[in-house]
Amino acid sequence: MKPILFNFTDAELVDFIAHMGQPKFRARQIRDWLDRGAPDFDSMKNLPAELRHDLDACAQTLPVRVLKKLESSDGQTTKFLLELGDGEQIESVLMRTSYGNSVCVSSQAGCAMGCKFCASTLLGLKRNLTVNEIYSQILCAQWELRNNRMSQRPIRPNGDANNGDVSHIVVMGTGEPLQNTQNVIGFIERANSDMGIGWRKITVSTCGIVPGIKDLTQWGRPINLAVSLHAPTDKLRSKIMPINNKYKIADVLDAAFEFSELHNRQLMIEYILLAVRGANGEPELLNCTSEYAEKLSDLLRGKNCMVNLIPWNTVDEREFVSPSGNAVHRFQDILIKNGIHTRIRRERGNDIGSACGQLRLNNANGIK
Ligand code: SAH
Repeated sequence: MKPILFNFTDAELVDFIAHMGQPKFRARQIRDWLDRGAPDFDSMKNLPAELRHDLDACAQTLPVRVLKKLESSDGQTTKFLLELGDGEQIESVLMRTSYGNSVCVSSQAGCAMGCKFCASTLLGLKRNLTVNEIYSQILCAQWELRNNRMSQRPIRPNGDANNGDVSHIVVMGTGEPLQNTQNVIGFIERANSDMGIGWRKITVSTCGIVPGIKDLTQWGRPINLAVSLHAPTDKLRSKIMPINNKYKIADVLDAAFEFSELHNRQLMIEYILLAVRGANGEPELLNCTSEYAEKLSDLLRGKNCMVNLIPWNTVDEREFVSPSGNAVHRFQDILIKNGIHTRIRRERGNDIGSACGQLRLNNANGIK
């Protein structure tokens, strides 16, 4: 395994460079490139070609290496399949939107939560990511934004080029962030201090680990919290999300609203719309019947929250199907009638397997 220079302290970097017979100022030059997310030594244009070559032979720049980069056909979404120093693979997604550039990062290699609809958990949990491994996912996206012409396409409604830097972060990639809380907190602190990303532009999504939510409350930063609810009764939720056997809906919502009320923030509730294939081959609604819409409304009435309805992204290994567009709108209409804020999440990057762990899974299964 080659040493990863991004993980070195300044003193270690000077030392490393000195062993290659190089003066101290080279270490500063290399550090500048690393902080900008340089994916390889060849990009470090102010280093002599020979040194770039020698470094390439004996070291790696970042803790993540881009194995694959996929662009959606509309050019607004880029998905990265990244390899870590020990060969584990993770995914991250860059989304160029009208309000800025958002990056979805992974917090673990794999996931132990076992949600029945999700691709990320199919191969189990490999390990937690370090602060640097999470942080370098946004460096990769930043590099892409600054160095790839695709990123300068005008996509804002007023026709302005959206060529800014990373402005938003969602911790919604592979893994359960609140099983790796300290590193996720370390990552967010760093994104805020080193990249200047505001607390309110950062969202952590959890399947509902109550002690982890309490840790976030104690930490006290006014970030956004999202809870993956996906069912309004403990009976149904336990069937599709095993974590519900440990932490019940009422306790999860209590802890989550305590967090969001502390910062006067809206709690985001994620709700995937799931159907199963019925006996006659037609989709049979699972968690999105009118009855469940009423039950969900009862849970959330009067609370400061937004229900994000998410069309299920097909995962071949899973038995679910997506409900029809009509069923989705019927479900949403009931929430609206009951005064619950709700929106249907726009699907992004569907053509590049951008949903939740598909790329990593396909790669592991040998699908190109
Ligand atoms: N473990 C965290 C964050 C990662 S999952 C959590 O559970 O929130 C991010 C979101 O994607 C969650 O709401 C998750 O339930 C959802 N998701 C997982 N698989 C999906 C799929 N196939 N289609 C749509 N959303 C999915």
